[in-house]
Amino acid sequence: RRRKIVAGNWKMNKTVPEALALVRELRGAVTSVGDVVEVVVAPTYLALQAVHVALEGAPLQLAAQNCHWESSGAFTGEVSAPMLAELGCAYVIVGHSERRQLFGETDETVNKKAKAVLAAKMTPILCVGETLAEREANRTLEVVERQVRGGLEGFEAKDVASFVLAYEPVWAIGTGRNATSAQAQEVHAAIRALVGRLYGEETAAQVRIQYGGSVKPDNAAELLGQPDVDGALVGGASLKVGDFAAIIQAA
Ligand code: 13P
Repeated sequence: RRRKIVAGNWKMNKTVPEALALVRELRGAVTSVGDVVEVVVAPTYLALQAVHVALEGAPLQLAAQNCHWESSGAFTGEVSAPMLAELGCAYVIVGHSERRQLFGETDETVNKKAKAVLAAKMTPILCVGETLAEREANRTLEVVERQVRGGLEGFEAKDVASFVLAYEPVWAIGTGRNATSAQAQEVHAAIRALVGRLYGEETAAQVRIQYGGSVKPDNAAELLGQPDVDGALVGGASLKVGDFAAIIQAA
C-alpha cells in the first residue's frame, strides 16, 4: 500500500522568524504520524536552512518549491538542486502551475528540473493540472497527459516509481473551490493508467499522486479517501497549524 504524503507549500509566505515559529508549532502538533502518512513542508529558499535545523528529529521532511536544472554557473538569481540537497531537502516541487503560468515554465524545463532533482538524490513532486478554460473545453485529460508525459520523459521506471505527482487543477488553487472527490479520482486514475502504459503496472502501483487545490480540513477526508488520491499538496491551509494538522489527521 502506498504511504500517504501531505505537503505544505508555503509559497511566497513567511519571513524566516515566522517560518521558524510555524514549524516549531507544527512539531508540537505532529508528533507521531509514523507509517501512515509522510508530512512535508516547503518554505521559501530563504528559510530552508533555519527550518531544516528546527525540524531535526521531527517526523517532518523538507522540500523546496523550485530549483534550476544546472548544478552551478552564471544563472543570476537561481538555486541548484545540489544546493538544496545539501540543506537537507528530501523533495523539490517542480512545475507548479504558478511557475508555469507566471514564470514561463514548460514541460521541457520541468523535465530538466525533475532530472536535476533526481540526480541530486532528492524526489521531485511534479505538478500537473488544467486551467478552467481547458476543463470547460473538455481537454482536462489531454492536457494532464501531455504534462505527465513531458515531465517524465527520459526517466526509468524505477525512478518514476519513487516520484510524487501532484494533480492541481488551476481553477481550484487559492479559489476556495476544490475539485469534487469524483473529479479528482477521475484524473488521478487517468494519470495512474498513463504511468502504467508508459512505465508498467508495478511503477503505476507505486507512484504517489497528491491532490492540490483548496484542500481544507472539511474536504480533506473525502478527497484523501479516494483510491488513487495518495495525499495532498496544501497551500493556504498549510500556513495555519490547526488546519494543516487536521488535514494530516484526515489522511
Ligand atoms: P491552495 O491550497 O491555497 O488552493 O493552494 C494549492 C497549491 O497550489 C499547493 O501547491
